[in-house]
Amino acid sequence: MRHAVGCSSGTDALLLALMACGVGPGDAVFTTPFTFIATAEVVSLLGATPVFVDVDPATYNLDPSRLDLAVRALDAGDPALHPLPAGYERLRPRAVIAVDLYGLPADYDAIGRICAGCGLFLLGDAAQSFGAEARGRRVGALGDAAATSFFPAKPLGCYGDGGMVFTDRDDLADTMRSLRVHGKGGHKYDNVRIGLNARLDTLQAAILLAKFDAFPAELDRRRALAGAYADALSTVDGLEVPREPEGVRSAWAQYTVRATGADRDAVAERLAQAGIPAVVYYPKPLHLQSAFRGLGYGPGDFPEAERASRQVLSLPFGPYLDPDHRGRVVRALQDAVPKGRGR
Ligand SMILES: *Cc1c(COP(=O)(O)O)cnc(C)c1O
Repeated sequence: MRHAVGCSSGTDALLLALMACGVGPGDAVFTTPFTFIATAEVVSLLGATPVFVDVDPATYNLDPSRLDLAVRALDAGDPALHPLPAGYERLRPRAVIAVDLYGLPADYDAIGRICAGCGLFLLGDAAQSFGAEARGRRVGALGDAAATSFFPAKPLGCYGDGGMVFTDRDDLADTMRSLRVHGKGGHKYDNVRIGLNARLDTLQAAILLAKFDAFPAELDRRRALAGAYADALSTVDGLEVPREPEGVRSAWAQYTVRATGADRDAVAERLAQAGIPAVVYYPKPLHLQSAFRGLGYGPGDFPEAERASRQVLSLPFGPYLDPDHRGRVVRALQDAVPKGRGR
């Protein structure tokens, strides 16, 4: 893509992209409820309204067929067709934020076709997927714009906060470069719009430049570790391992298994007793968060997101996890899942 606009965090990257495309009150922004709060938080911060759409259980990413249904439900003003937020009567469809959860790119082809069909702006939340590819294209090039994060826990991390927005559109890039420095015009003290302090810190940029050289090899190591985990764990009854759809290469930000035939919390507890830290991303889908109670959603609205939040477990993972530790994780997990209660 033509432009890479560095900024202060992944959250600000999302915010800058939405601000540059003019998202505001009265706008509906379709996104997944199975993501980190920041994805939908920026929508509400701008006075727009998140319209949640359930995920595909095979990828945990926005389900294109459900997106299509949600767009039609809003258009028809019919919440019987698809759950809609409070005040849906006054909303106009404006944008979609697709999230590449755990590093796996969303289905941008199918989502892009829906967006093109009804003039929706497609923003990728690539906070977890820097380095991933779909059909030979990097995640930054898959929508109208994509936002990534360089928080230390992401595939390419700096030593604090950092982010970046990618886009091919000159107008968007110009506006974002202005917005990130208080809406500057020709110079710093000429302010032409209301903006933010959202610069990428020079020190963090220097760290990213140094780490950038090592990044391709780190991606390969992540991929190899994911393969080794899959080989060892795909035969464990009651566990599902993550899979990449045809033509898609994950950045493997997380290695997340699904406990289908075992109680996830009990498995996590047994792992913890064996000294293995495992983490749940995310235990509560966004439509059930108190922060979004004003949207009026309730349990049962997005069953796949709710089921995923009860079943997922992310294992210790990173480019430098050695085979010895990997073996300990595998053995502990084999012991932690009760035998004979599988699928
Ligand atoms: C981490 C993350 C963000 C926010 O990035 P920050 O750099 O922490 O602000 C947004 N969306 C998703 C999906 C993330 O994982």
